Amino acid sequence: MALHDNVGVGDFVLLDRITMDDFIGNLHTRFKSGKIYTYIGEVCVSVNPYKTLNIYDKDYVNQYKGREQFERAPHLFAIAENAYQTMRRAGKDTCIMISGESGSGKTEASKIIMRYIAAITNVSGHQEVERVKNVLLQSNCILEGFGNARTSRNDNSSRFGKYMDIQFDWKGDPIGGIIENYLLEKSRVVRQQEKERNFHCFYQLILGGSDDDLRRRDLNRGPESYNYVSQGGITRVDTINDRQDFRNVNSALKSLGVHDEEVRTMWDVVGAILHLGNISFKNSESGESTSVADISKGAIETCSRLLGVKSSELRRSLCERAIAAGGQVVRKQLTSEAGIYARDALGKAVYERLFIWIVNRINEAIRPVKNSYGTEKRSVIGVLDIYGFEILDTNSFEQFCINYCNEKLQQLFIELVLKQEQEEYRREGIKWTHIDYFNNQIICDLVELPHKGIISIMDEACLSVGHITDQVLLDAMDQKLKGHGHYTSRRLSPSDKSLIHAQDFRIKHYAGDVTYKIEGMLDKNKDTLFQDLKRVLYQSSNSIISSMWPDGAQDITKTTKRPQTAGTIFKNSMIALVKTLISKEPYYVRCIKPNEVKSPILFDTERVEHQVAYLGLLENVRVRRAGFAHRTPYERFVKRYKMLSRRTWPNPRGGSMKDATNAIISDLRLGKDDAAVYGNTKVFIRSPQTLFQLEKARTNMI
Ligand code: ADP
Ligand code: MG
Repeated sequence: MALHDNVGVGDFVLLDRITMDDFIGNLHTRFKSGKIYTYIGEVCVSVNPYKTLNIYDKDYVNQYKGREQFERAPHLFAIAENAYQTMRRAGKDTCIMISGESGSGKTEASKIIMRYIAAITNVSGHQEVERVKNVLLQSNCILEGFGNARTSRNDNSSRFGKYMDIQFDWKGDPIGGIIENYLLEKSRVVRQQEKERNFHCFYQLILGGSDDDLRRRDLNRGPESYNYVSQGGITRVDTINDRQDFRNVNSALKSLGVHDEEVRTMWDVVGAILHLGNISFKNSESGESTSVADISKGAIETCSRLLGVKSSELRRSLCERAIAAGGQVVRKQLTSEAGIYARDALGKAVYERLFIWIVNRINEAIRPVKNSYGTEKRSVIGVLDIYGFEILDTNSFEQFCINYCNEKLQQLFIELVLKQEQEEYRREGIKWTHIDYFNNQIICDLVELPHKGIISIMDEACLSVGHITDQVLLDAMDQKLKGHGHYTSRRLSPSDKSLIHAQDFRIKHYAGDVTYKIEGMLDKNKDTLFQDLKRVLYQSSNSIISSMWPDGAQDITKTTKRPQTAGTIFKNSMIALVKTLISKEPYYVRCIKPNEVKSPILFDTERVEHQVAYLGLLENVRVRRAGFAHRTPYERFVKRYKMLSRRTWPNPRGGSMKDATNAIISDLRLGKDDAAVYGNTKVFIRSPQTLFQLEKARTNMI
């Protein structure tokens, strides 16, 4: 029986006591025996096994297909099956939210879920559905190539957030999908921390491209020769086969129907960025202007050629800046430093536009084709795999956004899990006890409130005229946020030794304290790219590249409207995401990372405890129990336990299923009178012992 395997309990609500020690003990016991999934009711807790387990093949699929969750050992398949059944039976949109920190197994989980859904659908082998399924699965490999990178915590870390709707027809077969992506960590294109890499695609091209591929782009096989992909001091990763992946990405692109010319352009852009990173500058003697250094001649020529732009234009836009003044365009000379800044800004922007183009292109390929059924109602299963909470040695704007995103999702979890439970008890007419949670709304407010929140304060600084520095921003934050229980800085807490730098500020997140560096925040929030550079790319002779830069068409003297800041765009996308998720029936997968060293045997109790604590899993169990360890619809209860009473075996004699349930429970004399409470459609069993007794009695009978 699924609920208590030989090792540990399969559902945390069955623990005798809900303490951290008991929780961790159970998780550890199960981890040791390769049982990485454990439920909290309908929530699935997953521990990254860091080894290949044979629990995802066809046999396993068949064990879960069409079954009820509690009939089988805990598994992601059961969660996918739940979401699928709810979508089919009730015609409701559902979503599966996968959360956990970097490296905890979210992306793997999302792929396992997608493969399961692909495996159980289209029994009639409809060709078009097969194509759609294939395309949906293949899209992962392309997105990972361009959106994932090796980080210090995960060799294949997703550096963007992803939400994917899989759309189904009335028969429950997938007919298409749509992907929404969130904030790609584009700073990685130009800068990598120690032991980290740039996005996989760069290495895929250099190491996996054919001789022709490389010749065309004037590249050599040594990633070390390229500034943008070698700063982390590591270019090859044991667990990653860049050569094979290059082939996989290309064949995935082919199966999506991306044209050869488009594919060529994608790799041209990747190649162009590699060359761009090698461009250096030299100052004029007066130090007031700069030019591209002689040694970079080849780099700038190739970069321009691959982007389809004139090299003289690219040169000029890297070394000068056009400023509109009174309807006139004035050219201002840049310094070398400003040249490098412009170069990096260009590299990041070119890559980001490419990524967005790729996502759009995938969406075109997976957009449901109008089928013969006409305008039928469609249902969706959404799968959310978004960056987990992150604390790095140096935390900047990207971590700020990522962690804010996790605050929002935690908030949603609190609301939905509480709401769901409350509603169930209400629907069933059951009394229940409220369980207190730490409510992180206060931290969401700290970040997002209009006028008072950090994003607003940053925007204000970005929009003010005059020379605003990061320090000015920090001063403004200190002033406005002084006294907030979740914000502090060196100035506000001078005695706090852990705030080493005067330019640091700290947010007390639900998942832990994170110290952010103010340096660079303004810049990343403003996210400007000079209009000159946009125009150069808009004028590219390659129409695909040109199409990525529609805003380059604007005349320089006409650009008056300020673009939205990166922070505000992100905030709005989070608000939209929450709105999408909240409209669907939610399922949760909570991923846990057992250790920091990717070991299949090490279970770092302290690290796991920390995750269990901030994910609110203990509270989750308590709420789930709120007096009741287990609940089952009457029908299912009777089916499972009818052999335990003469009044119900082989079949209940008359009466309702509720009466039959009552007969079984009272015949067994299970505990006191209140061992079970009878709701409108379900029986609620109070203590786990009662369930054990039932199970034991059943085992003895069969
Ligand atoms: P996240 O998306 O949470 O950052 P990933 O899903 O990329 O983490 O997982 C990190 C690594 O852990 C994977 O590359 C894989 O090696 C391993 N891993 C995660 N889940 C599983 C699993 N179910 N089975 C085997 N290995 C796994
Ligand atoms: Mg991931």
